[in-house]
Amino acid sequence: MREKIIAGNWKMYMNHVEAVKFINDLQKELKRVETAYEIAVFPPFTSLFAVSQVLDKDLIKLGAQNTFYEKEGAYTGEVSVSMLKAIGCDYVIVGHSERRKYFYEDDAMIALKIKASLEGGITPILCVGETLEEREKGKAKEVVKQQMEEDLRYLSKEDIRRIVIAYEPVWAIGTGKNATPEEAQEMHEFVRETLNCQFGFSEITILYGGSVKPENIGELTRMKDVDGALVGGASIKLDSFLGIIKNVYQGGD
Ligand code: PEP
Repeated sequence: MREKIIAGNWKMYMNHVEAVKFINDLQKELKRVETAYEIAVFPPFTSLFAVSQVLDKDLIKLGAQNTFYEKEGAYTGEVSVSMLKAIGCDYVIVGHSERRKYFYEDDAMIALKIKASLEGGITPILCVGETLEEREKGKAKEVVKQQMEEDLRYLSKEDIRRIVIAYEPVWAIGTGKNATPEEAQEMHEFVRETLNCQFGFSEITILYGGSVKPENIGELTRMKDVDGALVGGASIKLDSFLGIIKNVYQGGD
């Protein structure tokens, strides 16, 4: 089902003390905001438990930035889906371009993480997107299609209803240069076409990510296939995250 979501990926920012303060401040403000969008935050692992203790789940959902695909075992440094579930996570980001680039996560591993997340009852947010070089060579759609085919390889038509996809062009992440609303719309439509070919179903939530800020969230979410945003840098400052939440397109005109 298509849901509207604004998700904040905190990356490696905010220790647990800072995180709790941020959530308390955000919740105070959100009580005054009416929105059709679900709000979700993705703190670092070390802040998840502390945040879960103060979170009002009617206001904000909790997610993790990564997971491992095995249930348990001798995997030093890894965290399982069931551990995240026990803390109260509803979502987990899988295949973020920073993990693909700096931690060499490939599509085979990402496919296993997606499968494990669903089996463990957490909604995966699969990130796909092309680099600048790939876009300039006219290969953006080819790259996204290949990522989707490989990353979703273990899923059935029933499973696909339970995932979220984030289109995050790599050249737009943390650069201040967002995709235009038209570029985002074109790729989101293409993602739905690809889902239709793969699964015969495409009515799932597709978020845009890449330099989203209060100034551009309205025009991006006005696009018919954009269901919300995955926000990085602008989600760790209260003013900008709130600004995004307040400026999101709510429909109606
Ligand atoms: C992200 O980390 O998913 C992201 C989109 O980052 P930023 O908003 O900073 O570009």
